[in-house]
Amino acid sequence: MDSWQALKSDCADCRRCSLCGTRHNLVFGVGREDAELMFIGEGPGEQEDLKGEPFVGPAGKLLDDMLRMIDLDRSMVYIANIVKCRPPGNRDPLGVEQEACAEWLGRQIALCSPKLIVCLGRIAAKAIIDPEFRITRDHGVWYDVGGRRCMATYHPSALLRDAGKRPEAFMDLRSLRKEIRAVCDSI
Ligand code: SF4
Repeated sequence: MDSWQALKSDCADCRRCSLCGTRHNLVFGVGREDAELMFIGEGPGEQEDLKGEPFVGPAGKLLDDMLRMIDLDRSMVYIANIVKCRPPGNRDPLGVEQEACAEWLGRQIALCSPKLIVCLGRIAAKAIIDPEFRITRDHGVWYDVGGRRCMATYHPSALLRDAGKRPEAFMDLRSLRKEIRAVCDSI
C-alpha cells in the first residue's frame, strides 16, 4: 500500500534522468494531499528550481491570482509538474525525461485521487489527456481520463508572454468553477 511518506522518500534523490545533474532542487509538489482538484504543469523554472517549490515567481503569482478569481487558494488544491527537475534553459522536457519521471506523478495522482485535474499548458495536456492535444484548439474542453474529469488551460507563463490569451483562460476558469460546483464536496 503506497503512502505520501513512501513516495516522498522514494522520489527524494531521484537520478532516473539526466536532469538530476543540473538541478538545484527537486520540485516534488505542494498543497493539500487529499485535494479534489489537482493542477499539473510541465516542469520547474528557474525560481522553482532555486526554491524547491512549484509555481513561484511571476508565473506562480499569476496562478495565485487565477485561483483567487474562482475563490480558491493553494491550500485547497494540489500542484505538481510532469517532471520534477528543471530542464536547462526552460526548454521543453524531453520524452525520455517525461517517461523517466512518470511514476512519481502517477503515484501523486493515485494518492491524492482528485476528482478534477487541470493541466497547465501544452506539455501537461499532451502527457495527461491526449498526445495530439493542441492547447489553442482544445483548452477548456473537459475529458474523462481514467475516471477523472480533466481539462487544460494555458500555462501562466504563456499568459504572461501573451496577455491576449487571458480572456480565453478566464473562460476556462469559469468552466472549472462550474465543474467544481457539480462534482466537488470540499471546495
Ligand atoms: S526529472 Fe524526474 S526522473 Fe528526472 S531526475 Fe528529476 S525526479 Fe528523477
